[in-house]
Amino acid sequence: MNVQYVQGDCIFTRVNKITKQYEYLTEDIDTDVIIVGGGVTGAILGYYLTKNNIKCVILEKSRVGHGSTSITTSLLQYELDSTIMGLKQYTTIENIIKSYRLGVKALNEIQDFIEKYGNNCDFKRVDSFLYTSKEIDKNKVEEEYQIRKDNGFKVEFIDQSSNPFTFDVKAGLLSKDGGAQFDPFRFTHELLRVSCESSLKVYENTEVVSITYNENDVIAETVYGHKVRGEIIIAATGYNTQLFTKREFGTKTTAFNLATKPINNLEERYKSIVFRDTEVPYNYFRTTNDNRIIIGGEDINFLPDIFNEQLCIKSYDKLEQRIKNLFKQHKVEIEYRYCGAFASTQDNLGFIGKDPDRSRLWYCLGYGANGILFAILGGIMLSELYLGKVNEDLKLFDVDRFDS
Ligand SMILES: Cc1cc2nc3c(=O)[nH]c(=O)nc-3n(C[C@H](O)[C@H](O)[C@H](O)COP(=O)(O)OP(=O)(O)OC[C@H]3O[C@@H](n4cnc5c(N)ncnc54)[C@H](O)[C@@H]3O)c2cc1C
Repeated sequence: MNVQYVQGDCIFTRVNKITKQYEYLTEDIDTDVIIVGGGVTGAILGYYLTKNNIKCVILEKSRVGHGSTSITTSLLQYELDSTIMGLKQYTTIENIIKSYRLGVKALNEIQDFIEKYGNNCDFKRVDSFLYTSKEIDKNKVEEEYQIRKDNGFKVEFIDQSSNPFTFDVKAGLLSKDGGAQFDPFRFTHELLRVSCESSLKVYENTEVVSITYNENDVIAETVYGHKVRGEIIIAATGYNTQLFTKREFGTKTTAFNLATKPINNLEERYKSIVFRDTEVPYNYFRTTNDNRIIIGGEDINFLPDIFNEQLCIKSYDKLEQRIKNLFKQHKVEIEYRYCGAFASTQDNLGFIGKDPDRSRLWYCLGYGANGILFAILGGIMLSELYLGKVNEDLKLFDVDRFDS
């Protein structure tokens, strides 16, 4: 079956008129690091490796940023998909707090990039808000607030009496500067632009069809028969990893997003916060610079062909109803509907590091709702690893951690 990973009218690839195209590979080449995949993860890896003077190339089978990067909500938060107590059965509280701190570090890294190279991707550092409108979930939010506060995070508790929003909040946890938002398609192109001005090489329409692992090198063969020789190869192919391994890395679902038309007189307070509720599956929303709202949620079991229209329509309709209920004071009209594969893990973390059986095969897989922040951490830690420094935090993202 031809597996479809993205479907619909994605806002970020529709509103952007990026004409930059990269050549396809027409010769055999040598490099140090071969990155397979030209989504946001591949671009982040390219940026950090190049910054560390490591020679690398990106091989992308279609066009840059048109995989799951085109449908990500890009609602960035240091916190994970579940609460600390919800995750406790799969990992330790210490590890969760550590990953929250790494999330803050990744947010700061993106902010530094923007400050250095200019804000060409609508980046905005914002607060993040976790809330419930259900009496029964109040304790969950209170508990989360207390643990984060005890661990030094800048948090504020909000209850019904202090709720500044126009929708019902029984309990809420506001994290100061705990989030960010941007346009992921433009961010990806920006990373590539900056890195290609240095030494990065990017090839579009260059699918890797086979890989040979040798004692002294690794060779990726591309669809038109050209070979790329490197010291290592990094899988940055998102939810599509069959080329590298038979291993199933996460639990796949199909996730849905809607983007509204620009909303007149949208209140300022909604523009400086990203929102997520405690429902299972949870719903989340953010705004854009031109006053649209992007809402996501209503995930269902993965549909490999994504063309089960009935099921898709059901999820889109539920999301539309939800956003209209949240913003009753406004005329809300939906302009874009899109969906695609999403993969989650028990501890909500992605996979970064070496394959347990092949030392020349490395992974950078941003699974879970914090995929972009994990890719930033991957870029930093895998560059260090290539230069011989093992970062202890890599253990959190170990490729093997669920097998032992
Ligand atoms: C609906 C949705 C909402 C999300 N929201 C958020 C969010 O708010 N915040 C967040 O941090 N994360 C979020 N995520 C996760 C985030 O989107 C992913 O972590 C990120 O997009 C993954 O990017 P990627 O570059 O790894 O994958 P992709 O963008 O899919 O890129 C992989 C690339 O590899 C290429 N490729 C595949 N096979 C080959 C091959 N053999 N040869 C060459 N190229 C190949 C593909 O063509 C593709 O372009 C969300 C995901 C979804 C689906």
